[in-house]
Amino acid sequence: MLISGNDGISIKINNTEILCDSRKRVGDLNFISHAHSDHLIRKFKNTKILCSRETAGLIINKYYITPRLLKEGESSLNLKLINTGHILGSSALLIEDDEKILYTGDFCNNSRFFLNGFKPPKADVLIIESTYGNREFIFPKQNEVIGEARDWISSELRKNNSVILLGYTLGKAQILTKMVEELNWQVYVHESIARINEIYSFLGTKIKDFEIYGFKQISKPSIFIFPTYLHHSTTIKKIKERFDAKVVMFSGWVIGDGYKYMFNCDEAFPLSDHADFNGLVETVKMVNPKKIFTFHGFADEFANELRKLGYDAISLNNSQKKILDFIEKD
Ligand SMILES: [Zn+2]
Repeated sequence: MLISGNDGISIKINNTEILCDSRKRVGDLNFISHAHSDHLIRKFKNTKILCSRETAGLIINKYYITPRLLKEGESSLNLKLINTGHILGSSALLIEDDEKILYTGDFCNNSRFFLNGFKPPKADVLIIESTYGNREFIFPKQNEVIGEARDWISSELRKNNSVILLGYTLGKAQILTKMVEELNWQVYVHESIARINEIYSFLGTKIKDFEIYGFKQISKPSIFIFPTYLHHSTTIKKIKERFDAKVVMFSGWVIGDGYKYMFNCDEAFPLSDHADFNGLVETVKMVNPKKIFTFHGFADEFANELRKLGYDAISLNNSQKKILDFIEKD
């Protein structure tokens, strides 16, 4: 068994190379943990893909690509997919050879709305994402964050202020849509979010069909759900001015200093689709591995923390990145 971490994670067993979430390299088999674009192989043609049914559905409908999926019996390895609760269809890969190897992909331990939190199996080798592998990132209980956000939204609307909810298009925006489904206010969603909501519903996770922003007369006050990357756009500026809208950001990164200022938001809630620092440590304890590899985010720091706890851990990151490099644009 050989594990390396350059452009995705490469796992070599019995002359088979499995490439996990690689963008450029093609292995004997490429595993796609979920449908965020930074995890997708660019050369789909003839690449044997292993992913969940929902991930395949999102790839087909969002990117108009038909992956060549691995057929049953096509690999001699014993491969299992395990739900990771990050976005619809997100999965970890468990390889059961002489040793059990678990590759997590992005994961979240907390159940929320239609997503069940990650329940990791035991394994000998753990390859774990470490987006928030720094002690600074410990989130409040996520159900309480959702409750507080709902209260804040309702109180602003009662004051006759509209609200603009910002989250990334694939994943967070569907959680935000669910969050406001039962509030009795008018909701408008950006067209890119409406499309993903529709794909979710098509794949069996029903998301309410709200009005697309820009097609109808808008009443005030209202709720607008927009992708994070549009936070400095003229559309957001226009909505703010015309409908007295407050801007609120939903991300795990808002725990860090200065983030709120950077995104020019009126309010921010630490609602995340990743495990926080404690969730990562808890996951390691549940897997109880002999060897750990960390990747993504604070990989060096998290490996260091794990070594302090007595684990054999090393980082697969070549260099530590800046927070803004991790903001998902999907
Ligand atoms: Zn992701």
